[in-house]
Amino acid sequence: MSALDARSIMMLSGLLALLMSLVLIFMRRSYPRHLRQGLGLLTCAPLLWCASTVLFGLRGHLPDLFSVVLANEVLMGGVLAYHVGNQYFFTGQARWKGWTLVVLGCLPVMAWFTWVSPSYDVRLILFTSLMGALFLTQMRFMMRQPTSFSQTVVVLVLGLQSTILGARLISVLLGHAGEGLMEPGLMQLAYLSGNAVAILMLTVGSVLCATERLRIEFEHLASHDTLTQALTRRAVLQRAEEELARLRRNGDPVSLMMLDLDHFKAINDQFGHQQGDAALIEFTARTRRMLRQTDLLGRYGGEEFLVLLPGTDAATALGVAERVRQAQPVPPALGCTVSIGVATAVEPGESIDALLARADKALYQAKNDGRNCVRAG
Ligand code: GH3
Ligand code: MG
Ligand code: MG
Repeated sequence: MSALDARSIMMLSGLLALLMSLVLIFMRRSYPRHLRQGLGLLTCAPLLWCASTVLFGLRGHLPDLFSVVLANEVLMGGVLAYHVGNQYFFTGQARWKGWTLVVLGCLPVMAWFTWVSPSYDVRLILFTSLMGALFLTQMRFMMRQPTSFSQTVVVLVLGLQSTILGARLISVLLGHAGEGLMEPGLMQLAYLSGNAVAILMLTVGSVLCATERLRIEFEHLASHDTLTQALTRRAVLQRAEEELARLRRNGDPVSLMMLDLDHFKAINDQFGHQQGDAALIEFTARTRRMLRQTDLLGRYGGEEFLVLLPGTDAATALGVAERVRQAQPVPPALGCTVSIGVATAVEPGESIDALLARADKALYQAKNDGRNCVRAG
């Protein structure tokens, strides 16, 4: 492979990185504020990779300070920006100090092996090991994120890139480093091509992750009540339909609780709507603590809630309802009890409307019986 080919591959990966960073710049503008910091760093990564390919590509035409020392630093800086950007993007916080010190500390070492004791082999060993370790750290972080298509793409690319770097390191240690960057052997060719593909795929991965994250956030907004974070009426009723379908298939019972806070209007009248809102939030939190992970809490409307208990028979559902009732009232100043109507579907043919009507009737009975009690329908 000629020197021109090595340069062409580098220039191509630089161009790809530049184009992908433009895509990310435009995407970032329309993203919610809390995702912009992570996306900003994820955009910096391909920009730095692009800058590094220009510096590497001009080796022989620029002083070594730029085409060797800074080129390597900027490339590592890009991988670091990618790592830190992903941490901010997925968790809202990042551990960046350790790796930043390592990357900066690399600068004098690179300089030493460029001017004081010039050695392409040592520089290559240092650079390849650090990049490999950074990619592996990044891969470990990504593997801990929720599994999704975009996360899998990124993990696979990081794994591939770490493997190529590992192979390159071994080849250098075995004495096959070659004469220099522009005189690549088979391993160098694999590395440069792998790098071009990795730059493209990692940035595509960022775009996919960002799109997926936005979809998840919109889905959450559409299915959760903003005040209490309980499911919306539509979402909880849809899940109830699914559970009734399961009853038809497997015969699993499903119970539904309808809850209504007692004399809630008086809370608003006495303490104001803000305190009323706080009481609704507290009520939701207390109720959720009494439920299993598989149970679903939804806001039916106003101060009325639904709890769906999949796979739960009537006797168990009454026990759960009693526990929920006893978990109230919400703070003494806002002393507010709850009345609960419970209905259990055991007949495969029962519709959601029929089940709701029974729970509603039982709730009406609880109100009539003096409130702060549980009734079955
Ligand atoms: P009952 O024991 O018969 O259920 O009496 P109640 O006062 O709870 O029932 P009513 O239906 O008369 O009043 C419900 C109140 O809930 C009226 C409404 O202002 C209040 N409410 C509904 N949604 C919200 C909300 O999101 N925030 C606040 N603060 N109040 C709400
Ligand atoms: Mg009501
Ligand atoms: Mg009420």
